Amino acid sequence: DLEERVFNFAAGPATLPAHVIKKAQAELYNWGGSGMSVMEMSHRGKEFLSIIQKAEADLRALLNIPENYEVLFLQGGATTQFAAIPLNLVEPEDTVDYLVTGSWGDKAFKEAQKYSKPKVVWSGKAEKYTKIPSFDGLEQSPDAKYLHICGNETIHGVEFKDYPVARNGILVADMSSNFCSKPVDVSKFGLIYAGAQKNVGPSGVTIVIVRKDLVGNAQGITPVMLDYKIHAENKSLYNTPPCFGIYMCGLVFDDLLAQGGLEEVEKKNKKKADLLYNAIDASGGFYRCPVEKSVRSLMNVPFTLEKSDLEAEFIKEAAKEKMVQLKGHRSVGGMRASIYNAMPLAGVEKLVAFMKDFQAKHA
Ligand code: PLP
Repeated sequence: DLEERVFNFAAGPATLPAHVIKKAQAELYNWGGSGMSVMEMSHRGKEFLSIIQKAEADLRALLNIPENYEVLFLQGGATTQFAAIPLNLVEPEDTVDYLVTGSWGDKAFKEAQKYSKPKVVWSGKAEKYTKIPSFDGLEQSPDAKYLHICGNETIHGVEFKDYPVARNGILVADMSSNFCSKPVDVSKFGLIYAGAQKNVGPSGVTIVIVRKDLVGNAQGITPVMLDYKIHAENKSLYNTPPCFGIYMCGLVFDDLLAQGGLEEVEKKNKKKADLLYNAIDASGGFYRCPVEKSVRSLMNVPFTLEKSDLEAEFIKEAAKEKMVQLKGHRSVGGMRASIYNAMPLAGVEKLVAFMKDFQAKHA
C-alpha cells in the first residue's frame, strides 16, 4: 500500500505515519464497536471522553508533564495563541520580551502589540534569521512579565537546542514545528503551545501546556474562547472541540509511546537530519544551507542551489520521483525539506540519493 503514497516534505499540514492513518481508516466507520464514527460522537459521551482522556494521559506520559500544568486542546491554530498569550498572562500596560529568530517569532511579537507592550530583546532579521544569540549577553527587560521564543522556526530552519532562562521565570515557547520531536523539560517553561499539523495530527487542534498558576488572570476583554481558565475548568470541553483531530492526535501519541518515547524519536530525527545536512555540506557548495550549524533544525531543512536557476527543475524532477512539497517558503525561496517525526528514514535516503544524481547531472 505504501506504493500509493508519496514522500511528503511539506512544512504543514505534513505527513503522518502511514500505519496511523490506516488505523484511523479501520476505525472510521465504527469506532470501538460504538456503531459510530468519531466524527459523529457527542463530545460529552463516554466514548469521546475516553478518547480525549487517553490523548491527554499519553501526552503527559510522553513529555513527562508535571501535575502543576494544564493540558488544553484548543482551536484557532498557533496564530490564535499569539493573541491569547498576552491576553491571559499580562495586562495591557505590561512589558513582555520577544526573542525573534524567524518569521513566526516576529508574527507573535506583532500580535502581542495589541494586548501588551512587547519588546524585541534580540532579532536575527539582519542576518536573515540564520542564528540564535548566546543567552549570556541577552538583555532582557527588567520588568518583562515573560520571555517568548519560537522553539523551531519552520520557515528559516533555526531551532533552539537549549533554552534561555526568563528573567522573571516565565518562558513561553511556540513549539508548533518541533512538538514531540524530542524530550523537553516542561518545568523550564511557563507555557508551551503548538498547532498539531506538523508532528502530531491534522490541522484544527492547538495544544497549550500551561503552568496552573498562570491561569485565571485573563484581561477583561479576553473572548471566552481564548480564556485558558474556561478551557481548563471544562477539560477542553467548554464548547464543541475538534473531536476528530483530537482523536488523531491521540493515535499519534499512542504510536510515539509505542516507539519507545521521545528519546527514541529524537534519535531517529537526528539520524535523518544528519544524513541530509551532511549531504548538503559535502556537495562542495552545489547545495548550501545558510543556517549556522549549531542551531540547524532537526525538522525543517532549508537549502539553496548555487545555480539557483536550477531550483525549479530540482523541485519538478523530485516530484516525478514521488518526493513532493520541496519548494522553500515564498518569503525565502530555494528548497525546504521538512522531515518531521513521520518522515521515514527511507524518504531522506531517497532524497539524498536524488540530490547526488542531480548534482552529477548538472555539475
Ligand atoms: N508557529 C509556527 C512555528 C508555525 O510553523 C506555524 C505554522 O506553520 C504557526 C505558528 C502558525 O500556526 P497555525 O497555522 O496553526 O496558526
